[in-house]
Amino acid sequence: MTKRVLLLATKDTIAYSRRPGHEAIASGADLLKTIPADLLTADVTVEDVLAEPSWDMSPATMLTLARRARAAILDDSFDGVVIIHGTDTLEDTAFLIDLQAGPAALHGGIVLTGAMRHLDDLSTDGPRNLASAITAAADPALAGVGVVACLNDELHAARWVAKVDATSVTAFSSAPHPPVGRVIGTGVEMLAPPPPRPPEPRGEPESDVALIKTYPGIDPVLLTAVVDAGARGIVLEGTGMFNVPVSLLAAISDLTEWDVPVVIASRCRTRDIDLAELPLGSGLAAKVGAIGARSLAPGKARSALMVALGPNGGVKAARDWFQRL
Ligand code: ASP
Repeated sequence: MTKRVLLLATKDTIAYSRRPGHEAIASGADLLKTIPADLLTADVTVEDVLAEPSWDMSPATMLTLARRARAAILDDSFDGVVIIHGTDTLEDTAFLIDLQAGPAALHGGIVLTGAMRHLDDLSTDGPRNLASAITAAADPALAGVGVVACLNDELHAARWVAKVDATSVTAFSSAPHPPVGRVIGTGVEMLAPPPPRPPEPRGEPESDVALIKTYPGIDPVLLTAVVDAGARGIVLEGTGMFNVPVSLLAAISDLTEWDVPVVIASRCRTRDIDLAELPLGSGLAAKVGAIGARSLAPGKARSALMVALGPNGGVKAARDWFQRL
């Protein structure tokens, strides 16, 4: 039976034509028409979603996409969902949707795609990426894998994927992990086990979570300033094995006491380790209450803290959630 796929189109580079005198933005339906009928592997329903360019993406739009993708599979019986997204923040939206997908991720494929070249560029990558993403979303092999990004025929797990090159069509990587699969012809070939599924979502995520990169000489007032401005949690990008400057420890201790969780990620690749297990001297922030981001990159840790906090969580909810990640 022909598979049914919902296409959520937020436009961006994949949809833009830029030649002088021919500037245009393609709708989801226009983009679908770029795929020759014999290469379309599913029955596709299109919904255009009003969205910012992805470099300016709002948490509200990200969460709208997450809700729609989940409902499409759980309530509307679609076999899969494809989301067209700008590439700059594709990895952030993909992971947030993954964390919010719950049982939807077990029943169908949820695939984000975009393009590095404009629609009217020579050898544009958009139509091919879209065709491959539709093939992936319709393939039963993706049920249970979780949200993936499909670009250049590769399938990258949302938890691992990152845009690592601002101009190349091979812009996306899961390194040090391999892509979980790839699209070949009209199907998916799985190449590696996907990451474990995250804990169940706790309702609507908290969108006011700050991400602060630490650096030698950082002023601790930055932490309290974001909380004064409304942040309900903070992710700090530290160095090495979750280290942050000692000048921040008192602020971390105070914020933890005020029930504002502080999660420490690292700018390096790290092992998937609980901060409490680090030897004395490493991960000092954990000793004053900080929560470890395990092996999540800083941006992904921010999405995770948004979900861990949910509508009314604090330090305890965040700590429990990250322990089960
Ligand atoms: N500048 C675009 C963005 O906001 C790039 C793209 O659309 O891929 O993501």
